[in-house]
Amino acid sequence: MILPINIYSDDILRQRAKPLKGVDSAVEKLIGSMFESMYNASGIGLAAPQVGHSLRLLVLDVSCVKNYEGEKPMVVINPHILAVSGSSEMEEGCLSVPGVQGDVVRPSVLTLKYRNERFEEQVGEFSGMPGRVLQHEIDHLDGTLFVDRVQKRDRRKIQKELSALASGIVNASYPVVVPVSKLY
Ligand code: ZN
Repeated sequence: MILPINIYSDDILRQRAKPLKGVDSAVEKLIGSMFESMYNASGIGLAAPQVGHSLRLLVLDVSCVKNYEGEKPMVVINPHILAVSGSSEMEEGCLSVPGVQGDVVRPSVLTLKYRNERFEEQVGEFSGMPGRVLQHEIDHLDGTLFVDRVQKRDRRKIQKELSALASGIVNASYPVVVPVSKLY
């Protein structure tokens, strides 16, 4: 089922999401819907709060990105960053912040402990595009958006677009939810 994406000014995007205690049929169904919604919106990562569920769950699939064709889709539950190193700058965007891009500096490598779609504990090292998307999506679980981290020189540039989104003006090619209170 394609779920609508919550947009920028929505309170759910600012909450700290709750850990999952396990994977039952409801969570399995949500994971399936998250992949479907992400592909429908041509995204490469999606966190549960972006589709209205304040849970520490995210999906990603970077196989449509050049040089990452062999990467498998990933389900990440209750992620915990064990270590980071290096630093790199990359332009980011977000399905919850349509039409806005900006350069963000993040660690280039991270060691991550998480649970997979069978709730089995995994530890992995991630860099390049998967490492970047993971950090962006883990931010969502803590109520942080990439626009909070955008390099200073880009901040003024995006402010107008953010104000438009906050006032309910959203141009997206996929279903979205705009908080009702922001429309009046
Ligand atoms: Zn995002």
